[in-house]
Amino acid sequence: MLLHLSTWPEVETYLQTSQGIILPIGSTEQHGPSGLIGTDAICAETIAKGVGERTQAMVAPTINVGMALHHTGFPGTISLRPSTMILFIRDYITSLVKAGFHKFYFINGHGGNIHTLRAAFSEIYTYLEELHYPHAVRVRCQVANWFMCSSVYKLAKELYGDEEGSHATPSEVAVTQFVYPEAIKTAFLSPEVGKGHKIYGSIDFRRRYPDGRMGSNPALATKEHGQQFYHLAVEELSQGYLEFLQGD
Ligand SMILES: [Zn+2]
Repeated sequence: MLLHLSTWPEVETYLQTSQGIILPIGSTEQHGPSGLIGTDAICAETIAKGVGERTQAMVAPTINVGMALHHTGFPGTISLRPSTMILFIRDYITSLVKAGFHKFYFINGHGGNIHTLRAAFSEIYTYLEELHYPHAVRVRCQVANWFMCSSVYKLAKELYGDEEGSHATPSEVAVTQFVYPEAIKTAFLSPEVGKGHKIYGSIDFRRRYPDGRMGSNPALATKEHGQQFYHLAVEELSQGYLEFLQGD
């Protein structure tokens, strides 16, 4: 069930049997010369919809801008500052808590969101307690990174070895090819690719990673691989969501 394609009475009815909701979160950021700017949001949204269908869960609208400040040296990237994102997530969750939701399962497509999301969760628990929200004590937030599912990681290693890299990876590019085959892009990819540098500001990032990739070879991606990654992630995260719902 997609929240944005539901009516308020349908949401009210859903809440009588479940207080859980899945929130896809990605980023709008460069993904190398051949990867789509929307890669992280596309992957999170597609997999979240699959998990929602499998588990009969409500899926919130995709949060498609995240914390990508270090990518802003490349045109097309849009980022929130961590402090903005914390407040954004807090308001988002507070609205849903008010409606009666308690369990928030973020399906995340961007590594750069993880720290800020965890900080936002701490902020939210305290905020709701201090406001004496009636169900504050029952609120639970969790972040599940599709690209860190053990089955996904294993397949990526088998297919790509070290060329999976850590940004603009063939696995994430493959998922976007599966979802949008009409938008598959090709580009010259230099065999020399930056890897292993620490991340500081956006100027330094572009200097260290001149074409935006981090150790990856996205030319290895195929839409058939993308379909395999999709199924593995949906399977593993559906299990994860159901366990999260059952936990106290
Ligand atoms: Zn990505």
